[in-house]
Amino acid sequence: MFEKKNKLLFQELSYKKRNYLETASKQERKEMFEYAKGYMQFLDDAKTEREACDVAVRMAQEAGFTEYAFGDPLAAGDKKYFVNRGKSVVVFRVGTKNIEEDGLRVIASHIDAPRIDIKQNPLYEEGGMAFFKTHYYGGIKKYQWTAIPLALHGVVILKDGTKVTLKVGEGADDPVFYINDLLPHLGGDQMAAKANKVIEGEQLNVLVGSCPDSEDVSDKIKFTVLSILHEKYGMTEEDFLSAELSVVPAYGARDVGFDRCLIGAYGHDDRVCAYPALTAVLANESEHTVLAMLVDKEEIGSEGTTGIQCKVYEDLMEEISLALGANFRKVRAHSKCLSSDVTAAYDPNFAAVYEKMNSAMLSCGTAMCKFTGARGKSGSNDANAEFVGEVRRMFAEEGVVWQTAELGKVDAGGGGTVAKFVANLNIDTVDLGVPVISMHAPWEVISKADLYSNYKAFIAFMK
Ligand code: MN
Ligand code: MN
Repeated sequence: MFEKKNKLLFQELSYKKRNYLETASKQERKEMFEYAKGYMQFLDDAKTEREACDVAVRMAQEAGFTEYAFGDPLAAGDKKYFVNRGKSVVVFRVGTKNIEEDGLRVIASHIDAPRIDIKQNPLYEEGGMAFFKTHYYGGIKKYQWTAIPLALHGVVILKDGTKVTLKVGEGADDPVFYINDLLPHLGGDQMAAKANKVIEGEQLNVLVGSCPDSEDVSDKIKFTVLSILHEKYGMTEEDFLSAELSVVPAYGARDVGFDRCLIGAYGHDDRVCAYPALTAVLANESEHTVLAMLVDKEEIGSEGTTGIQCKVYEDLMEEISLALGANFRKVRAHSKCLSSDVTAAYDPNFAAVYEKMNSAMLSCGTAMCKFTGARGKSGSNDANAEFVGEVRRMFAEEGVVWQTAELGKVDAGGGGTVAKFVANLNIDTVDLGVPVISMHAPWEVISKADLYSNYKAFIAFMK
């Protein structure tokens, strides 16, 4: 009897992570799977920040949101979206509460993902093949991008200023592109090299053609490629100078595992947070003024006009405050932000770099990182315990299954998010996002349960 009592008491006193799949009702599991379908469609439709921005705008319009420009009047109940240069979008709802006292509720995520960008003067032929020179974008393991089908996405600004959009390799009949690797038979030296030298940056050349269609020019294959580009897009070689082209994996999102609880796809980081942020704001009314920020350039330091360090996002919040007759400093002081980015899921195949007690476990829900950074939390927004406590109470009230996480073992490495930049505005901010297996690989894996938990967490944050 005494033993049984202590067992119950221990259960009450101790903390244990829960697997969301294990605890979810049949109905909730059905909702998870249904929600995942919409997300997988989003993944396939939006592989670059420009495409994600376009799709988000379309979804916002379908939900009755209209475009906002600085200076526009705003009133409670307004549903708006603000586009920054076609590569970033903020979707927001004006609530009924006074924002001077209540602040803004911001969910900040990013829609750029690691990839291979095409150089400004890319095209050459050699050895019976034509290639594009490239420069990779974000933190990748270069060797992972060889010998897989690739699709070409982006825009070209022609000489006369016309913008041409390219998307080749996604349709069933489209050709795809390819980065060559070395056959193992001749790969002795390569296999002995350090992994970051196995394929070097200047070897990431994309195979784009092989047919010598003409007799009277020197570079026959290059000529073929240029002819096709000219015919299809009105391009000349000089137009590459003002182009933004990238290659990304050509394959789509798929269920992973016999039980279909996981999703494999390119670019879960960070669309697995951007999509829930977007859909939470589109589909749910709130008495708070809520913003879903889908920003660009996180993978290269959040710089530039479309990265979150750009003043445009602060300007937008200030404009919202002005339009509602509120003092922006007071608004900021009372605002709250979930910096929504992915974290590493514990992987038993690489257990040495994780500290299991404090790692995000797959399917145990969206993961809160009180701090990120490297070494002694360097470069981290270390959220206040008070704010963490507040968010914890929000989640408890709505029954959100969630967990806490650190990226890996102390001193094993590190990383950062947009959190610190938002926090610099005097906005309480904490990181919250989905655990990922093989983060930054051309094909990453996440759990449908964690995706849905992330969505539920955002709804709780908006309540
Ligand atoms: Mn990220
Ligand atoms: Mn990343």
